[in-house]
Amino acid sequence: MAMWNPWRGCKKCSEGCLHCYIHKGDAKRGVDTNSIEKTRDFDRPIRQLKNGNYKLKSGIVYTCFSTDFLIEEADEWRYECWQMIKTRQDCTFLFLTKRIERFMECIPDDWNGGYDNVVVCCTIENQKNADKKLSVFKDLPIKHKCITAQPLLESINIEQYLDDIELVVVGGESDYNARPFDYSWVLHIREQCIGKNVSFEFRQCGTNFIKDGKQYKLQTKDLCSQARKANINFRANS
Ligand code: SF4
Repeated sequence: MAMWNPWRGCKKCSEGCLHCYIHKGDAKRGVDTNSIEKTRDFDRPIRQLKNGNYKLKSGIVYTCFSTDFLIEEADEWRYECWQMIKTRQDCTFLFLTKRIERFMECIPDDWNGGYDNVVVCCTIENQKNADKKLSVFKDLPIKHKCITAQPLLESINIEQYLDDIELVVVGGESDYNARPFDYSWVLHIREQCIGKNVSFEFRQCGTNFIKDGKQYKLQTKDLCSQARKANINFRANS
């Protein structure tokens, strides 16, 4: 799995950020997550071997998974990233953002209808942010759109925003003090996706998991495997 973090650090900006794993990991190492800094990996996509081949192999590149690609503090660096993304047409760059409202001020001049090799995942956690963010996201010129509802904090209706969405990912919160995560919320989103023929993935249970009214405390190591065991993913018919 190829990762690219041209900068690191992030600032909490929504209810979903409460138990952010980046902040938790940095706190253990004594690193200030609120300080946004360029990394040594900044130009990773275009680094070459002696024979001229790129060091970063073709395929999906998970971008900015230890920050937010659209964070304000990175505005002066992002244009160079778009140039590298454009250069590497053999790679698909996928990033998640909780700052989708900044999208139009962050794109390059030649974006037009969107680059073919960019997937944008808009992340939401409750109905308030679903309405606020997805109503913006649905009209943005992006070729490949996904929604990530993780950590999902309540039952939400997103059916009206599912046109042009390629995948919806749902997951719970991972933390000893995680907020409750009810399986019925997962099934509700799944139903909406199936109704609109949108692919759906249940990626992770929540630490404080509720099923049929009973509460379970799950271990972090089991969160993804428990979600897989539910076997409820749905692949859209093309
Ligand atoms: S936007 Fe994402 S990376 Fe940034 S603080 Fe929130 S959860 Fe963490």
